[in-house]
Amino acid sequence: MKLLVLPGDGIGPEITSATLDVVRKADALFKLKLDLESREIGLKSLASEGTTLPEGVMKAIRAADGVVLGPLATYDYPAKEQGGLNPSAELRIGLDLYANVRPAKSRLGVGLTGKPVDLVIYRENTEGFYADRNMFQGIGEFMPTEDMALSIRKVTARACERIARRAFEAALRRRKKVTAVHKANVLKLSDGLFLREVRKVARDFPGVELEEIIVDAMAALLLRDPMRFDVVVTENMYGDILSDEASELSGGLGLGGSINAGDEHCVAQAQHGSAPDIAGKGIANPASLILSVAMLLEWLGARHRKENLQTAAKSMEAAVDAVLKDPSGRTRDLGGKLSTRSSRRQWLRIFDRNSWARSERGVPKKSSFFASSTILPASMKMTRCATLRAKPISWVTTIMVMPSLASWTMTSSTSLIISGSSAEVGSSNSMAIGSMQSARAIATRCCWPPES
Ligand code: NAD
Repeated sequence: MKLLVLPGDGIGPEITSATLDVVRKADALFKLKLDLESREIGLKSLASEGTTLPEGVMKAIRAADGVVLGPLATYDYPAKEQGGLNPSAELRIGLDLYANVRPAKSRLGVGLTGKPVDLVIYRENTEGFYADRNMFQGIGEFMPTEDMALSIRKVTARACERIARRAFEAALRRRKKVTAVHKANVLKLSDGLFLREVRKVARDFPGVELEEIIVDAMAALLLRDPMRFDVVVTENMYGDILSDEASELSGGLGLGGSINAGDEHCVAQAQHGSAPDIAGKGIANPASLILSVAMLLEWLGARHRKENLQTAAKSMEAAVDAVLKDPSGRTRDLGGKLSTRSSRRQWLRIFDRNSWARSERGVPKKSSFFASSTILPASMKMTRCATLRAKPISWVTTIMVMPSLASWTMTSSTSLIISGSSAEVGSSNSMAIGSMQSARAIATRCCWPPES
């Protein structure tokens, strides 16, 4: 499986290099047979080839199974005529990557406000306010006079319908709720069209609750009550802004993984930009790109029906949780002291140290181990219930057992990946399997059938 890697600008090369170490480790562990090829884009290819997106690279992108795209210093690019193409925009439009999927999950236990966050934003990715790419020819922005500038927003029924459908499908695998974010009180026609399509799609998903919220209220409610939101569907620019807010709430922009996905192609791309303020200092957090690549592997696993890709994706996500759980495993943006280079060593150590239990043999259907929920602190209980109620057992279920026992991720009924410190739960395989029984018991009891 060919993955094309485009490190990009600013902190791009630093976080891409750390991410590739983790990907290579997952490749070896799960026998993914990945073929990784790196090419230059952005300011480097502008200097060497006169364009930020060489034609040969675009050809390689189309031929690859997936793309890992580093952040880009697009604000510093010259005009298109001088070679300053925005690779992000070119890929999203050129490959019809209509869904920008941006999860926000409180990976350090709780988010910045002390409240748990577990939501995913489905952002329409091909039109909206983005005037540099929303026209067939020319751009959607112009200046009739020296002192007047106009921008056009594009909204089509087709784009709204397909992003809404992907959001409802995702909600079926989660807590079964979609929040449509709009500004139809002002943009009555365009956001009215968006809402019309969302409501139409909602009729095909009677088991999913639809909530509609005006975008300014959404910005406030996200802070007030983040767990109220499960899947959020919205247009391009609202989604861009709200996803940065949600990422910060979950711990920081350095945790913001995302994919740009269409029906044929998928590009892993962190939510943040090239972070020029810290570029070259070796302190950037690679977690955002590692999580993005995990999402890409999951997308590829579903597309090609390869369970090892999906298991690798879950294990990468679990490794992120395991590293970040310990304050000494955090980079500076998260209040820690680690450099990018030493954080990379942490990721690899977690992969090496964890026990990988892949057999279900001998796992009892029921166990009373951990049965008492009174051992859970209130915040954990909330996370646990919210997560377990949402997902049937055939889907990945993250179980927050107790702070001292870390978190557990159970993949589609066959494997359990232990994240967190293996010293606490025992590092041998037998201990891992013993613990697997407990985790399975909890999932069986709480998750299937779902709690009412
Ligand atoms: P930014 O997202 O690059 O940075 C915002 C803040 O978050 C900065 O303080 C930065 O240090 C911090 N940050 C971001 N990622 C981090 C990480 N992995 N680890 C630690 N800290 C991190 O936003 P900006 O500074 O406004 O934009 C810089 C450039 O990026 C601009 O040229 C902009 O056009 C471009 N941009 C690109 C993308 C993209 O490629 N998808 C997205 C947003 C911005």
